[in-house]
Amino acid sequence: MNKQQAARPITPIEQDLLLRAEGINKSFSQGDNTLTILNNLDLRIDAGEIVALVGPSGSGKSTLLQILGLLDKADSGQITIENQQLGSLNESKRTKLRLSSIGFVYQFHHLLPEFNAMENVALPLIIAGEPKRLAYERAMKLLHQMGLKDRADHRPAKLSGGEQQRVAIARALVHDPQILLADEPTGNLDPETSALVFDLLLDQVRERNIAALLATHNLDLADQMDRVLELKAGKLLPL
Ligand code: ADP
Ligand code: MG
Repeated sequence: MNKQQAARPITPIEQDLLLRAEGINKSFSQGDNTLTILNNLDLRIDAGEIVALVGPSGSGKSTLLQILGLLDKADSGQITIENQQLGSLNESKRTKLRLSSIGFVYQFHHLLPEFNAMENVALPLIIAGEPKRLAYERAMKLLHQMGLKDRADHRPAKLSGGEQQRVAIARALVHDPQILLADEPTGNLDPETSALVFDLLLDQVRERNIAALLATHNLDLADQMDRVLELKAGKLLPL
């Protein structure tokens, strides 16, 4: 971290602010080269805001989402989630915050093949120590909302691509996170299925009044969101 970044003032805590990133830097070294992916990037998302993240392949969308989702670390910069500054948290508090506040949907569903849809959705709750009966009840409610009531006992291999992603979305929401991050969640689906899954996703986010940052290649889908940000040369620009 250089002196200028270290001296950067941290903006005061505000109401409604769910996610803020300030001065985020991330590079990868490849042989002798250093590839700068995120360059002093700033972002803020308020409660109830749905933000689209666009940018060409390789621009760093996944890298940014992984950092905001606390699945990876920035080289420098400050992240604030629900008024907690990440820099001040130890590893176990960081994990706790990730598990309680953030829902993450990947491009590929990452469901566990040996469990059925209900068990996959319930898993985050069971891991968090919820009684099984309660976890299954909540999982069923989510599956119902995602139009999958009749698929609860199907394993992922018996579901279509769109159904698999709907289960993955249910799993990301089952613990009532305040922030939903999604990395091209419909990127592997045909346009019609993609639009349907996105509709369900946006309905859920709106109903819950949570904050969402959703990466997509599809500008029609991006236009349905409250704001569109483009990742370009390591920074976010309004589109
Ligand atoms: P996007 O999601 O927008 O397609 P990514 O965040 O996946 O972009 O990748 C941005 C760039 O960073 C790409 O050039 C990619 O090759 C590089 N990259 C991503 N992760 C790593 C890594 N772990 N090591 C080296 N380079 C990486
Ligand atoms: Mg990506």
